[in-house]
Amino acid sequence: MRILMYHLVENMPGCPMAVPRRAFAQQMELLAAGPYTVVAEDELHTMVATGRPLPDNAVLLTFDDGYANTVTTVLPVLDRLGLHAVMAVCGGYLGPDRPRHVPHPVQEMASVEQVRQWADSGRAVAAHSYTHPRLTRVSDPALAWQLAGDYEVLTEVLGRSPRTFAYPYGAYDPRVQRAVAELYPLALATDDRHRPDHRHPYALSRIQVDPRWSVAAFRTALDSVADPATAERDARATDLPNSREVRK
Ligand SMILES: [Zn+2]
Repeated sequence: MRILMYHLVENMPGCPMAVPRRAFAQQMELLAAGPYTVVAEDELHTMVATGRPLPDNAVLLTFDDGYANTVTTVLPVLDRLGLHAVMAVCGGYLGPDRPRHVPHPVQEMASVEQVRQWADSGRAVAAHSYTHPRLTRVSDPALAWQLAGDYEVLTEVLGRSPRTFAYPYGAYDPRVQRAVAELYPLALATDDRHRPDHRHPYALSRIQVDPRWSVAAFRTALDSVADPATAERDARATDLPNSREVRK
């Protein structure tokens, strides 16, 4: 399977985080037409829990940070095509006191109502820390607070607990993985070291969609395979085998 990572879908030439609207629509139309199958968050969790890999044509769509743009611009396209997706939200960005300058200077963050609108559409909301620090660089108490604060806010907003975590900046190490494992059965990274599978539940690789990609380049990225030797070496160095192991 492949997990795709998006941030903004907007026409902002030169911005490495903003996929143009037309390119995004074409990408979603390609996914909807097949041979790909866009899977829901549940299916990712079933894969990790059961150890049964998803087929290679399975694709999970993720949208990071919790921008209003994800609800106003992305959601209508997903609705039109009937595609599942996951939105990763920082609890500290919600509400009237949200810091509008981070993580992207010119984009509004989603309101509580917009996050609920996304969830009410049947799509998943993932956790992304409280205020988006690089978790590998914060103290133990700050790490615990970043994870617990986000978990509590999202649980309050959604009426149920988030089940998936996405590392801010994709930054993780064994300490961060262990802390995340206290709350979540899996976590999304941002590197693309290996195909995301049940052997790497706390380092599930994602492909960052490049705004400059043509549809052909998008398709090539979907079909690309990480070098198996590199994948195994990285897996030994950074991955925790499963959540039971972590909790020992
Ligand atoms: Zn982020």
